[in-house]
Amino acid sequence: MAGLDPADWTSLRALGHRMLDDMFDRAERAGEGPVWQPMPQAARSDVRNAQLPRQGAALPDVYDRFQSLVAPYPTGNTHPGFMGWVHGGGTMPGMLAEMLSAGLNMNCGGRDHAAVEVERTVIGWAAEMVGMPSNSSGVLVTGSSMANFIAVITASRKADPAFRSRGVGAASLVGYAAATAHGCVARAFDLAGFGTDALRIVPTDAQHRMRADVLAEMIDADRAAGLRPFMVVATAGTVDCGAVDDLQALGSVARDHGLWFHVDAAFAALARLSPTYGPLLDGIEKADSLAFDFHKWAQVPYDCGCILVRDAEAHAAAFAQSLDYLTRAERGLAGNAPWFCDFGPDLSRGFRALKVWMTLQHFGAGGMAEVVDRSCAVARHIEARVLAEPVFELLAPVTLNIVCFSVRDLDDTQVASLIEDLHESGIAAPSTTRIAGRLAIRAAIVNHRTTDRDADRMLDEVLRLAVLRRTVR
Ligand SMILES: *Cc1c(COP(=O)(O)O)cnc(C)c1O
Repeated sequence: MAGLDPADWTSLRALGHRMLDDMFDRAERAGEGPVWQPMPQAARSDVRNAQLPRQGAALPDVYDRFQSLVAPYPTGNTHPGFMGWVHGGGTMPGMLAEMLSAGLNMNCGGRDHAAVEVERTVIGWAAEMVGMPSNSSGVLVTGSSMANFIAVITASRKADPAFRSRGVGAASLVGYAAATAHGCVARAFDLAGFGTDALRIVPTDAQHRMRADVLAEMIDADRAAGLRPFMVVATAGTVDCGAVDDLQALGSVARDHGLWFHVDAAFAALARLSPTYGPLLDGIEKADSLAFDFHKWAQVPYDCGCILVRDAEAHAAAFAQSLDYLTRAERGLAGNAPWFCDFGPDLSRGFRALKVWMTLQHFGAGGMAEVVDRSCAVARHIEARVLAEPVFELLAPVTLNIVCFSVRDLDDTQVASLIEDLHESGIAAPSTTRIAGRLAIRAAIVNHRTTDRDADRMLDEVLRLAVLRRTVR
């Protein structure tokens, strides 16, 4: 044995092939068994109470522990009955790509190797998908939370480059988003040092979209009050009901006022590929920066988000450092600038790009568009049943793939416990949100495996649990 490599490659191979087969079996039967089940107390304690192992164990024994303690209790988002939050379902090419990238074990912070070229290509494809210029810069990150944070940093450093050395101090910069914006936008303002108060909340219209007219008035008022408005954060695909802000109108207001125009399109960016739903996102191509996730509607396994920035120089100016131990060379392994560490806070980075590169090559943009269309069709099916069933009440317009509804005559506490029962039944897993102060059952169709039949099973069970509660009253 040399280092940590196995003494016996033959048995390692056999075990590895068995692991692969187990994962294929699992995917082939993704719709069988419960969507989710709680981890039993014994398994939980076994995992929680394990001491740091002093001696190594045989790999087959370690794998047995994985099979009994971990594999049966996942989040559930590979199951077609999973309709909660916004989780992608994963694909086999994506899973295999994860294994290949771990095998190569490349560090994609920079330097001159193939992974950097693959990531640059993926960033170029992402820009093409949404219609941003081909020379936009970008980087793959953990998710849209990080992508939105990078946008806030880039926009603010463009407004005042001195923040990098002097800090934000009592900066009077203010940005704008609707109340429907994802919580990570306020968090980005917090992390950036501006504070969440620097994020102005713009009211929405009946379609849950940010009001462009009020936005313009708020910017003018803040300027008149001596503040420095610097960015507008629009949302394409809000996390509560999937509303799409009027990107044309908001982009114009931002440009007319000299503000950075950022779009958080965490899941809905993929809809740009659909001839049916793509036009809803008109104006996204004019964004100064765009955050979205490959791990949501694009089904790439966790984790993989993406930030795109129209002005590559501004992007690098916000993050690049010149450090002796990271000198870029003209030739050799230390060449090939700019490096991905120039476009975000991470230095060491995994080869996330491989799973995107392989996914997009295998399914094509057309395959992605079909996933979007099918998800939206399932959402339409749910909407139609909700409207047809007198016990149900639709709480928000259905724009893309998210349906928010509730049960007449049940209060919020009853709806919350109904959803908990539904989760524990293992039949389906929608989540909840608040619409106009009311608790809504929220079905977000993101998994490529989810069909009308899965939606029907969910609705039938919600109905059954609802009728039970209504009779008890
Ligand atoms: C999911 C989501 C985010 C956060 O993305 P992560 O990948 O979970 O970090 C941000 N904005 C919207 C609109 C989202 O749907």
